[in-house]
Amino acid sequence: MTSPAARTALDLTSDLPVTALEDLYRDLHRHPELSLREHRTAGKLDERLRMAGYETADGIGGTGVAGVLRNGEGPVVLLRADMDALPVQEETGLPYASETPGLMHACGHDLHVTWLAGAAQALSAGRDTWSGTLLVVGQPAEETGLGAAGMVADGLYERFPRPDVLLGQHAVPGPAGLYGHTPGLILSASTDIDIVVHGVGGHGSRPETAVGPVVTACFLVTRLQTVVSREIAAGEAAVLTVGRIEAGTRPNIIPTEARISLNIRTQSEPVRERMIAAVRRIAAGECAAAGCPREPEVTVGESFPPTVNDPETDRRVAAVHGEVFGTGTILDPGPATASEDFPHLAPDGLPYAYWFVTSTPPDVWDAAPGDDLAEKLAAVTSNHSPRFAPDLSTLTPGIRTLVSGALALLEKA
Ligand code: ZN
Ligand code: ZN
Repeated sequence: MTSPAARTALDLTSDLPVTALEDLYRDLHRHPELSLREHRTAGKLDERLRMAGYETADGIGGTGVAGVLRNGEGPVVLLRADMDALPVQEETGLPYASETPGLMHACGHDLHVTWLAGAAQALSAGRDTWSGTLLVVGQPAEETGLGAAGMVADGLYERFPRPDVLLGQHAVPGPAGLYGHTPGLILSASTDIDIVVHGVGGHGSRPETAVGPVVTACFLVTRLQTVVSREIAAGEAAVLTVGRIEAGTRPNIIPTEARISLNIRTQSEPVRERMIAAVRRIAAGECAAAGCPREPEVTVGESFPPTVNDPETDRRVAAVHGEVFGTGTILDPGPATASEDFPHLAPDGLPYAYWFVTSTPPDVWDAAPGDDLAEKLAAVTSNHSPRFAPDLSTLTPGIRTLVSGALALLEKA
């Protein structure tokens, strides 16, 4: 027995303009744009929203776009897609690969925009089946963590109705056709930290006259590996990755400083605070041990909040997805170590549901080595890889998830 929302969603998405949507996807994939430079992408989405009868505005928080469809009494439901690409040189070999050197939709946000455009169109065409207000948001700069907050700060919810509930989704690796729902914490908090180690420069042949920041930075990077393994309880989830280390110009010059950038992922605020304190302590300790002339500078940079689904909203959406896609298609992946700025669109505890859509092409998945889901997951390309290539067969399903999720929340009284 399926609910009216599931039946209506299947009905409204039974004759989607699939070819046109594929063309949109390929076009977006060919023309990736960096965070806060998504002018062309925003324009494409804006155009489709206006054609579908939405009242739109662009340039929100820089390059954000939003469209509203008022359709009688009922809640305000926000559907969101992020739009930015990454500084990655594409290696997929696809016929519609990026035409911009060094820039690629390596996180699938081009697919997200296409899903959103298709869902907005289907829900507009089927507006006699639901009641309420739809707010559709094309968000810039997810990758830098600034886009969602920027749109809200720029008055998104003064220019448009404030949502009662928000929905968002992300393409992830996994055999195409699964939908990951977790009724609570689904994505981790992310925090960037920069460290500057101050040494004393000198000639490479006379280290006794200098304090080499390269060696200190190396000890520091090694010691930082003990933060998670020695200071965080086994039951807590945390990651610390040093992603960048930079120092020096020539083999025979001892430079004056070294720079280290690292990123931590945490699932609770106490663990986050403990890790930041440990990084500060270890940086100060290593520099003191080396005899650095000054204490290191430790700067906490960009951070993403944890993504915590409203359990009730997520269960409703997962239930309708289960009806639309059938038995065995919904799984609970538990909290992931990835991060999102989507929660910034939901200030003051607005409830939301955020889920994953697996998008690895079936032939790639079948060919991947491994006997179970976890082994195969480790073998296929992940988001941000130069070979990340979601399967086009997920185009209609990713529209159905949004349409059915929205309908479950916008049912006519
Ligand atoms: Zn990403
Ligand atoms: Zn992403």
